[in-house]
Amino acid sequence: MVNQIMKIPSNDLSRTFKMHQEEYEQAALKVLRNGRYILGDEVAAFEGEFAEYIGAKYCVGLACGLDTLWIAFRLLGIGAQDEVIVASNAYIACVMGISINGAVPVFVEPDDYGNIDTDKLELSITPATKAILAVHLYGNPCNMDVLCDIAKRYKLLVVEDCSQSHGARWKTQRVGTFGNVGCFSFYPTKGCGAYGDAGAIVTNDDALFEDFRVFRNYGSRNQYEHEVIGTNSRLDEIQAALLRVKLRHLDELNQERQGLAAQYSAMIKSNTMQLPNVQKDADCTWHQYVIRTSYREQLINYLSIHQVGSQIHYPLPPHLSKAYTYLGYGHGSFPIAEKLADEVLSIPIYNGLTIDEQSYIIDLLNSFRP
Ligand SMILES: *Cc1c(COP(=O)(O)O)cnc(C)c1O
Repeated sequence: MVNQIMKIPSNDLSRTFKMHQEEYEQAALKVLRNGRYILGDEVAAFEGEFAEYIGAKYCVGLACGLDTLWIAFRLLGIGAQDEVIVASNAYIACVMGISINGAVPVFVEPDDYGNIDTDKLELSITPATKAILAVHLYGNPCNMDVLCDIAKRYKLLVVEDCSQSHGARWKTQRVGTFGNVGCFSFYPTKGCGAYGDAGAIVTNDDALFEDFRVFRNYGSRNQYEHEVIGTNSRLDEIQAALLRVKLRHLDELNQERQGLAAQYSAMIKSNTMQLPNVQKDADCTWHQYVIRTSYREQLINYLSIHQVGSQIHYPLPPHLSKAYTYLGYGHGSFPIAEKLADEVLSIPIYNGLTIDEQSYIIDLLNSFRP
């Protein structure tokens, strides 16, 4: 029975901030007062700490998640006419990261766990295939055993998009360390979110590490010496300082969301919706808790009447967006991704969501009658 009304937004970033408000404020003030705002000690320190946390040799801070992707493909030598395999239900930024360099995204449908179906992956490999982009969607790792085995057999590069899965593991290893490059966005809503735009890559490759450092800063290692045509994609000092605080608390923040997810999975009992599945070797960080329902409009309405927010990640698969009409796909090209886009719904799962709020949401879901 749901009687008393509670107002619960789909997300509330201020709650995570307030958990360690003092630490964030001190970190930001320190940077403001010390007078160094670009590529200083905070960025260097964060890069070291993040590489260590993920279990990689190197980290390079960049301006945002999208930059990590397109620069990775650029530096790996992937460009016009090269094909890169990606899940058909990935986020649009994953696809743009591939196509910005002129490479061609080749879509493979997702499996029951919502990530690229590794049983179908091999069928999409052609002589033009250069890489696989493994997107660990919603915090849930792809099957990296099978994916890396295929990549090895066909001599393909592997880039991981870990923008929704900071700290997630496949077996005992953190995502981001399986392929040639691990890409991370620190957009504020992400698990390891900054307080503005930010991103970073991790790699174990010495040469690639150097290339990223040069490319992000106008192709320059030493001031006014430009080795290549690079770009401006630098992680800000102030964001790096704030991220160092977030990183110190990342495991506890991930654990909190894992607890919320376990509670949802145990307590939601409704034949009008399907709950998310995670493979036994995947340690998911639950960036989103995404249910599926064929009564989505009614459910969104029902939740919203009772003041509970929800979101759709994502309402349109990339192959149907206007930006990608040139690829020549239409409705029916990737039916699994299209069905997901019609049925997925993300319910509140964020740091600071209280037990009472979650019980209220669970009661609502269990009493929903379409
Ligand atoms: C957020 C996100 C990106 C893009 O990151 P920005 O920092 O917004 O550029 C890329 N890939 C995935 C999977 C994301 O979730």
